[in-house]
Amino acid sequence: MSVVESYTASGEIGHYIGGRPVASKSGRRQGVYNPATGAVARQVALADAAEVGAAVAAAQAAFPAWADTPPIRRARVLNKFLQLMNEHRDALAAMITAEHGKVFSDAQGEVSRGIDIIEFACGIPQLLKGDFTDQVSTGIDNWTLRQPLGVVAGITPFNFPCMVPCWMFPVAIAAGNTFVLKPSERDPSASLFMARLFEEAGLPAGVFNVIQGDKIAVDALLEHPHVRAVSFVGSTPIAHSIHERGAHFGKRVQALGGAKNHMVVMPDADLEQAVDALIGAGYGSAGERCMAISVAVLVGDVGDRIVPLLAERARALKVKNGMEADAEMGPVVTRQALERIEGYIALGVEEGAQLVVDGRGLRVPGHGEGFFTGGTLFDHVTPSMRIYKEEIFGPVLACVRAKDFAEAVQLVNDHEFGNGVACYTRDGHIAREFARRIQVGMVGINVPIPVPMAWHGFGGWKRSLFGDTHAYGEEGVRFYTRQKSIMQRWPESTGKGAEFAMPTAK
Ligand code: NAD
Repeated sequence: MSVVESYTASGEIGHYIGGRPVASKSGRRQGVYNPATGAVARQVALADAAEVGAAVAAAQAAFPAWADTPPIRRARVLNKFLQLMNEHRDALAAMITAEHGKVFSDAQGEVSRGIDIIEFACGIPQLLKGDFTDQVSTGIDNWTLRQPLGVVAGITPFNFPCMVPCWMFPVAIAAGNTFVLKPSERDPSASLFMARLFEEAGLPAGVFNVIQGDKIAVDALLEHPHVRAVSFVGSTPIAHSIHERGAHFGKRVQALGGAKNHMVVMPDADLEQAVDALIGAGYGSAGERCMAISVAVLVGDVGDRIVPLLAERARALKVKNGMEADAEMGPVVTRQALERIEGYIALGVEEGAQLVVDGRGLRVPGHGEGFFTGGTLFDHVTPSMRIYKEEIFGPVLACVRAKDFAEAVQLVNDHEFGNGVACYTRDGHIAREFARRIQVGMVGINVPIPVPMAWHGFGGWKRSLFGDTHAYGEEGVRFYTRQKSIMQRWPESTGKGAEFAMPTAK
């Protein structure tokens, strides 16, 4: 059986600890669905604290030798891993579509964006270079270096089962840490497959471990004294609690949360471009992206001009099994997600928003049990409505009207989330003002989903990120390392004796 087949065959999806697959010992498991068919495809193990302890112990044992391995040799293993990821990118994408539901081309894009980070991490020798000052005082030099933390953990969401883990483990491992990843229990195969490829690339056993599970596994990681840092990506309530609890247990934490991303369309915008952007960013991946656009802020007379065009396109979306070549949108991830999303649509109607396109109850031929909903479009949504305030995380686009630019900026700045935002305009001054004044971490000017490239780092503001550093990029390297300052003197034997005053430059 090929490596790919072994990861897609039926049976239990277990852990990866100390360089080998490990079957569940806890006896706890849950179904992993194919969202397009609505059927349980496999079972995933759910770890208990003892299994988490075994993964952390393996990582702890592997740490001293890996931390001591010269960065250039670590980078060579990453280079080989990069090559294997490129060779298996379609297999990985198919695995993602089968468990997440997103269309295959989108899954390929996700894998590519994950691979970008591995490529970035291959530059670790350069990224870890410290600084040096000759002669900070007479005969004394001072330099800084960055050292790995030890065992670090990652906890990731369902919506990017390859890309989001890649925001974490390649950078952490390149920097000399060992890693325990707890992927989403809804689409766990991609992580396991990547662990296997990394091992094939020559990664020593125990450097990268995958533990499947739910809250029990997360709690065990948070409480474990040997886990030095936790990177989390998921919904805001969990991100907030992970940040608080991780800090309580003395860990470094970065916790990226939910979003409600706005796209402001100015009256001078190219309308055709704005429609394409809203349809792609609103309904792509069935709206299950933390950078999806879920609110269109229509300034001045744009609303009356653009809503009919959006409605026509939302009605025409090709919603299908994501493996079909012409599918534009696949199913949502679970039946519960479908019920939550359709519940929000009912709520929007109750709250008085105008339901322009209703995606509820969509039936896809041959996929009667699949978790499908169509694209939904609301107009005249107001800031007091729950469908405006809360993250729906589905293919629901809410149009809000704003009288001018200032009102649009205020609206975005008043929202509790601040992950991504976009402004469509042809006016350079408006664009510049928008980028400077907006209280959001990632800004697109005529770019709907401004996910920063691997060397820039990813992170929102406000309740979209708890912690100080963004994911990946140089901020990621800082998160996974700590600075040490070394001061050195090789004195001549002057016999000056002890000095009791604070040393100053002489
Ligand atoms: P989620 O918060 O339900 O789960 C994320 C992770 O936390 C999973 O590994 C899950 O097993 C674990 N978890 C779930 N409940 C827990 C609990 N009570 N205690 C401890 N751990 C728990 O998120 P999700 O539904 O998998 O993903 C969607 C969410 O992630 C959306 O809110 C989306 O905006 C967000 N997201 C944010 C970013 C970002 O960069 N800001 C990126 C991707 C996704």
